[in-house]
Amino acid sequence: MELIRTIRHMQDWSEAKRVRGQRIGFVPTMGFLHEGHLSLMRHARGQSDHLVVSIFVNPLQFGPKEDLAQYPRDLDRDLELMKPIPVDAVFHPEPEAMYPPGFQTRVEVTEVTKGLCGTFRPGHFTGVATVVLKLFNIVRPHLAVFGEKDYQQLVTIKRMAQDLNLDLVVEGQPTLREPDGLAMSSRNVYLSSEERRSALALSESLRLAQEMVTAGRRAAADILAAVREKIESRPHNKVQYAVLVDPLTLEDVTRVNDRAVLALAVFTGRTRLIDNALLTAP
Ligand code: AMP
Repeated sequence: MELIRTIRHMQDWSEAKRVRGQRIGFVPTMGFLHEGHLSLMRHARGQSDHLVVSIFVNPLQFGPKEDLAQYPRDLDRDLELMKPIPVDAVFHPEPEAMYPPGFQTRVEVTEVTKGLCGTFRPGHFTGVATVVLKLFNIVRPHLAVFGEKDYQQLVTIKRMAQDLNLDLVVEGQPTLREPDGLAMSSRNVYLSSEERRSALALSESLRLAQEMVTAGRRAAADILAAVREKIESRPHNKVQYAVLVDPLTLEDVTRVNDRAVLALAVFTGRTRLIDNALLTAP
């Protein structure tokens, strides 16, 4: 496994593989890896000759009052976790190299970024799209894999790849969960043990919503009221949003006629958690 710190080195590394006709798979991350990240890597590994993982806590996607400074970081631990995959190259640039003085370009995906997290994290998806396009230009992958855990991010990146004619495939992979249902997240380390118990209400409410749909209750207002009630009945929990949206456009739906994504953002104490599920009507 090669640790690559400069943009030029990464570009040269990838170019050497591409001229030989070899396929590069890529998983962008912010590090502090967990089994969810590793599942994306295994998936990309299986479809590529070489696997590149980036570890970069992207300042551009954090708001001024968000957790950029506190975001957990542990490169040595991450490198150990990636050994068995195996990962061929880890790209870990300095923020100053990614955003040198004078940097002023942004990539804006206009519509699918409006609702959900986009409403509460202004500029977040512009920061995400900008860094991901930069990473694509540096790593030049044939395949890039993202988690459905960040559903709006996945839709945004797919949209950008299509709109800008990027010559690569973007794939989503299912959310990995702890045995009790909590979606794995680097931010789960922020939770106290009591908050950790309250956080279970997110995945429980997703299951409840699917049960309601299966039982024939299709009105979004009813489902969302039940979801909010379940989450906020636990201490420390405050729903930031709970929405039912079309899986492709992310526009609100009023009924679950066929398929809809239930997306949640919840503050459990001071920790903001997101989760989602695709609800299907039988
Ligand atoms: P992050 O390091 O949080 O930016 O996440 C890097 C990638 O891992 C993104 O594509 C996430 O959607 C994905 N990811 C995060 N959590 C999970 C999870 N629990 N299961 C699967 N993928 C995940």
